[in-house]
Amino acid sequence: MNIDEKLQPILDDVIRRNAGEREFHQAVEEVLSSLGRVIAKRPYYADNALIERICEPERQIIFRVPWVDDKGQVQINRGFRVQFNSALGPYKGGIRFHPSVNVGIIKFLGFEQTFKNALTGMPIGGGKGGSDFNPRGRSDGEIMRFCQSFMSELFRHLGEYTDVPAGDIGVGGREIGYMFGQYKRLTNRYEAGVLTGKALFHGGSRARKEATGYGATYFVQSMLQTKGDSFDGKKAVVSGSGNVAIYTMEKIIEFGGKIMACSDSNGYIVDENGIDLDLVKEIKEVRRARISEYARLKGTGSHYIEGGSIWDVPCDVAMPSATQNELTGKDAATLIKNGVIAVGEGANMPSTPDAVRQFLEANILFAPGKAANAGGVATSALEMQQNASRDFWSFEETEGRLAKIMRSIHDSCAETAEEYGAPGNYVLGANIAGFVRVAESMDALGVI
Ligand code: NDP
Repeated sequence: MNIDEKLQPILDDVIRRNAGEREFHQAVEEVLSSLGRVIAKRPYYADNALIERICEPERQIIFRVPWVDDKGQVQINRGFRVQFNSALGPYKGGIRFHPSVNVGIIKFLGFEQTFKNALTGMPIGGGKGGSDFNPRGRSDGEIMRFCQSFMSELFRHLGEYTDVPAGDIGVGGREIGYMFGQYKRLTNRYEAGVLTGKALFHGGSRARKEATGYGATYFVQSMLQTKGDSFDGKKAVVSGSGNVAIYTMEKIIEFGGKIMACSDSNGYIVDENGIDLDLVKEIKEVRRARISEYARLKGTGSHYIEGGSIWDVPCDVAMPSATQNELTGKDAATLIKNGVIAVGEGANMPSTPDAVRQFLEANILFAPGKAANAGGVATSALEMQQNASRDFWSFEETEGRLAKIMRSIHDSCAETAEEYGAPGNYVLGANIAGFVRVAESMDALGVI
């Protein structure tokens, strides 16, 4: 990546001061590499250490999470909340439970979240949290005790005007329910706006569960429309089979596309007849089983491949929706060779820098995660809005607002890319549009 010579020392400093935090370095480098054109046009953005301040989280909280497993053994995990930037509103961003979680991963996610939230145009700052707890194979009781212990520390740092977490990898409606229950108990307040992704009867929003996947699909549909094209009749491959992947597949099917393959962390399934989404939902949302079950239950036309790369499956549209750095330069080369026309990142930073470079050089329509997957947090902000006004909107009303927001994020990325001399480059457009909004807001607040 090419970085402007004025910005290189900032990156060097971030790397030095956050040693070993590889994903965080990668995310900062990716944003800084887009900012050369901005400071050339508006040099005052490089004043008052504004960019350095944007790269430094406002607050980082790391805490012990002790809990008792079903055998009566005491287990210890580490909890994190990085409150990255509150220039535009309360910190907002999900909680991830996965054994790979460390402070560098949470910082990368919080940094990305700050610009993503700015892109939505809504009054939300950026934050992210999580734990190295592995929920896989844990009983319902163990999950509940872990969530309660996690919240027993985190609650003092939250509040509907302070910091509002949501779900992410390993944290869905069940976990949000347990955390909200513990928050309510500890504070003696029914403060529904403190968490989003809640069940409807706790003040959750309709369409929140579907929002990230639907939103990413709307974004890619808008990109296709700029070429007079659509999802209709297209073959798509979606990695993962969690929240984002499932609702991406659902919307693509509704738009007339056919899903060829999806995956989990063990391997992927291919179905020549198009993936049967009801069966995937049954396996993942009800039984919480492995995706390999699909081929066993479905039989003819489908098969399961242990390990390997899902990106070997030929497709018109690729939607990486599992985790960071899951789509490498080699995978990008394979996708391009097989004729991919659009790539939409449902996950956060799923494509490596080499993969992104190849997509851009090959003029593939490429939607970066911080723009394409912003529908989740945007609908979380709609949930906060409903909680504040003690209101409930219909599914159609909420999805309609989501569709409008995604269209506006798409247009703002496209127009910004054009304004800065890189038409069609959504990476540059998203980075600059998000940065400018955060920078303007911070600047107006004085040196904070
Ligand atoms: P889920 O936990 O619901 O699903 C994650 C999926 O990805 C699972 O199928 C999981 O498989 C797979 N996966 C996880 N880690 C790996 C890995 N190392 N290699 C391969 N596959 C893996 O999470 P979400 O769907 O919520 O999140 C997916 C991505 O989308 C993340 O990057 C998240 O940050 C991002 N995102 C989520 C939003 C949301 O609203 N939920 C909003 C915006 C972004 P397995 O079950 O085997 O672990």
